[in-house]
Amino acid sequence: MPGPSAHYVPEFSNAPMHENGAFSNGHQHPDLTAFEDVDFTGAEMRDVAVIGTGPAGWTAALYTARADLNPLIFMGPEPGGQLTTTTDVENYPGFPEGLMGPEMMDRFQEQAERFGTESRYGTVTHVDFRERPFRLLIDGETPVYAQTAIISTGASARYLGLENEQRLIGKGVSACATCDGSFFRGETVAVVGGGDSAMEESTFLTKFAEKVYVLHRRDELRASEIMQQRAFDNDKIEFVWNTEVVDVLGENAVEGIEVIDNDTGETRVMDGVTGFFLAIGHTPNTGPFQGWVETDETGYIQTEGASTYTNVPGVFACGDAQDSTYRQAVTAAGTGCKAAIDAERWLEEHGAAKASHSDADREPVEA
Ligand code: NAP
Repeated sequence: MPGPSAHYVPEFSNAPMHENGAFSNGHQHPDLTAFEDVDFTGAEMRDVAVIGTGPAGWTAALYTARADLNPLIFMGPEPGGQLTTTTDVENYPGFPEGLMGPEMMDRFQEQAERFGTESRYGTVTHVDFRERPFRLLIDGETPVYAQTAIISTGASARYLGLENEQRLIGKGVSACATCDGSFFRGETVAVVGGGDSAMEESTFLTKFAEKVYVLHRRDELRASEIMQQRAFDNDKIEFVWNTEVVDVLGENAVEGIEVIDNDTGETRVMDGVTGFFLAIGHTPNTGPFQGWVETDETGYIQTEGASTYTNVPGVFACGDAQDSTYRQAVTAAGTGCKAAIDAERWLEEHGAAKASHSDADREPVEA
C-alpha cells in the first residue's frame, strides 16, 4: 500500500457516496432533518474546517494555517479537550520540566492563531457529507460550508451508568480529579479503574484527601509500571482488588458506595466515601459523524492505512476520535499534522468544489 501522497487516494474513498439514499458500503444516511429549516444561501465557505480543539485539532489548524488555507476551528463543548482537565504533563517532548495541561493547550492555540487560524466557540452538531462543499451546522443552527473537514473531536470520560452515580454527578461523583479533587480535603474518596488514569488520579487526589481507595475489577493493573509504582508507594492509597461498584449512596451528596467482591459475590457498603471518581476510560466524541464516516464498533473513526483519510473523500480524522490505542497528546498532535498535510494535498489535487449549490439542487435523501 502506498503512503499518502499528493496522488494517493485510498481505494475505498473512490466508492460512490450515495446510491438510492445509502452509501455504497450499505450505511444509510443519517437523519438530515436538522438542515431543513436552515438557509445555507450565502453561508460562510471555508477550505478547511477543523472540528475540535485538543492537541490534534490545534496541530491540524497550525499546519493548514501555515499552508495558507485559513482554517476555521470549532472549539467544541470542552475547548482544549481532555488536557484542560490534567495537571502536569510530563511526557510531552521538549518540555523537560513538564507543564500544566491547560497552559499547554493555550500555547497550542496561540501558535495556531499566530499563523492565521480562526477560532470559534461552538460545536459542530450536524454534518452533511453527501457532496462538497460539505454542510456543517454549528450548535444546530449556524450554517457553514467546508471544502474539507478535519475531525479532531477527541474522546470523553466514561461512567459506570448507575442511576445514583448519574444523579450525584457534581455532588461527589466526578470523572475529573484535577477539576474536583480540591473539594475533598481531608476526606475519603474512591477511584474506579486500573489504568494509567486511575493511577494518576488517585495519586493526585492524595494531595487533598486523607484516604484514597482504588477499586479495580481484576487483580492485575493495566497501568504502566512507573505509574503503578508511584501509586503503590503512596501511603494514602489502598487498593481494593476484584471489586466493582454496584451503587453510589447518598441523598444530596455521596455518603458511601456499595461494592461487590467479584471472587465471592458478596456485597458490602464502604461508608464514609464522600468522593467517587471514575477513571475507566473514554468514549470517542464521534456522534455527529456516525453513519457518515466508518467507525469501529466502539465509535472510533476508521482511517485508511497510515493516512488520516476516512471513507468520505475530503474528510479526515485525527487524535483520540480516531486512535483507541495510543491516545497521547504527542500522538494526537502527530496525527493532527498528518490530517493537515492530507487535507492540503487533497485540496491541491481536487480543488474547490462549486460553492453555489442550494438545497433545491440536492437529491432527496431517504433516511
Ligand atoms: P484504560 O487504559 O482503558 O483503563 C481503563 C481501566 O478501567 C481498566 O483498568 C479497566 O479495567 C477499567 N474499567 C473499564 N470499564 C470498567 C467498568 N465498567 N467497571 C470497572 N472498571 C472498568 O484507560 P485510561 O487509564 O484512561 O488510559 C487511557 C490511555 O491514556 C492509556 O493509553 C494510558 O496509558 C494513557 N494515559 C497516560 C497517562 C500518563 O502517561 N500520564 C495518564 C492517563 C492515561 P480492565 O483493566 O479490567 O479492563
